Amino acid sequence: MPSVPLKLVGAVALALALPFAATACGGGDHGNKIVIGTKYDQPGLGQKKPDGTMAGFDVDVAKFVAKELGYTEDQIEWKESPSAQRETLIQNGQVDYIVATYSITDARKEKVDFAGPYLLTGQSLLVRADNNDITGAASLENNKKLCSVSGSTPAQNIKNKFPKVQLQQFDTYSACVDALKNGVIDAVTTDEVILAGYAAQSPGAFKIVGDTFTEERYGIGLKKGDIELRTKINDAIEKMESSGAWKEAFDRNLGPAGIEAPAPPAIDRG
Ligand code: GLU
Repeated sequence: MPSVPLKLVGAVALALALPFAATACGGGDHGNKIVIGTKYDQPGLGQKKPDGTMAGFDVDVAKFVAKELGYTEDQIEWKESPSAQRETLIQNGQVDYIVATYSITDARKEKVDFAGPYLLTGQSLLVRADNNDITGAASLENNKKLCSVSGSTPAQNIKNKFPKVQLQQFDTYSACVDALKNGVIDAVTTDEVILAGYAAQSPGAFKIVGDTFTEERYGIGLKKGDIELRTKINDAIEKMESSGAWKEAFDRNLGPAGIEAPAPPAIDRG
């Protein structure tokens, strides 16, 4: 660029570098803040309320962990983390950790690490309350439209095990539930705890059918190789469980959806 004065080149370079320096904070360096990823639209688990506050079991787990890591609630910055974006958000250092109905899987473990598990659940189906011909995943092959979320384990599981089902993938489960309400689709599939939260939010509109047909182990996602953070988060989860705070949080957030607190799973320190 012979005609561009050097000073200008320098200014442009600085302007380009500064925002990058401010956001490229991998390794958990977000100044005196901690950035936590969660869902914003899953009642009972991770929900952003109209007044801007966060609520749900995942939110309570995330807050407990943050406190154990030495952060006050004011120092928490929440980041919405849709299913398909979670690994990328962690790999790019845009979040310090993610608590977002995030199943521990071998494929994901190639990109991120997990603390936990802190909850066991399994995949199920949600239909309209007046439906009586959907009885399980196999009955969906009978020309039914099923909705799930891109980048989620339940969507992948349907593709693998029930390839004939007409599967539509949205970005969020709340979009699936709206489509179910409007009659655009016939069923929603994801983890039972998530479906129970939506059912409780609209009494009489929906029902969960059949038993769970997978095992989902929820973990807290963090940067691959950060053994120190993983150990600290595992210690925090253990403390939450042994102090009774875990059960209290479960009952407060998911009790109204009619789910009894299960025994917390053993933490995998391996
Ligand atoms: N637990 C499943 C998953 O991690 C489904 C729930 C979700 O998409 O957040 O993919």
